Amino acid sequence: MKIPTTGKECPYFYGDYYRGRDHEECRLLNNAEWSQKDCQSCPVPDILLANSCPNMILAGEIRKGILGLGRKVAVTAYCKKTHRDIENPSVGCGECHPILDLFKEAE
Ligand code: SF4
Repeated sequence: MKIPTTGKECPYFYGDYYRGRDHEECRLLNNAEWSQKDCQSCPVPDILLANSCPNMILAGEIRKGILGLGRKVAVTAYCKKTHRDIENPSVGCGECHPILDLFKEAE
């Protein structure tokens, strides 16, 4: 679903505006802490635009800085095919879609 404030597509965003309703939720994060402002800096839409591997499972949490400042969404990823954590979710683990090392080939 498209996030109204950012215009980005996120499969975890859900908004119900039918007949005057105004219900929004994030189906990835803990909704007790979530507000749509968190979508502004959330990396999930860009990660899924770069890597749509169906074996990648995302998990996220809201991290707050000192005194509640510097609030941001932290995302971790796991590959259910290789059963290991993914270091860079935008790139993937390299099992299904090999990561090209262009500089290695130049040697
Ligand atoms: S916080 Fe991130 S994962 Fe949740 S709805 Fe917003 S963009 Fe999607």
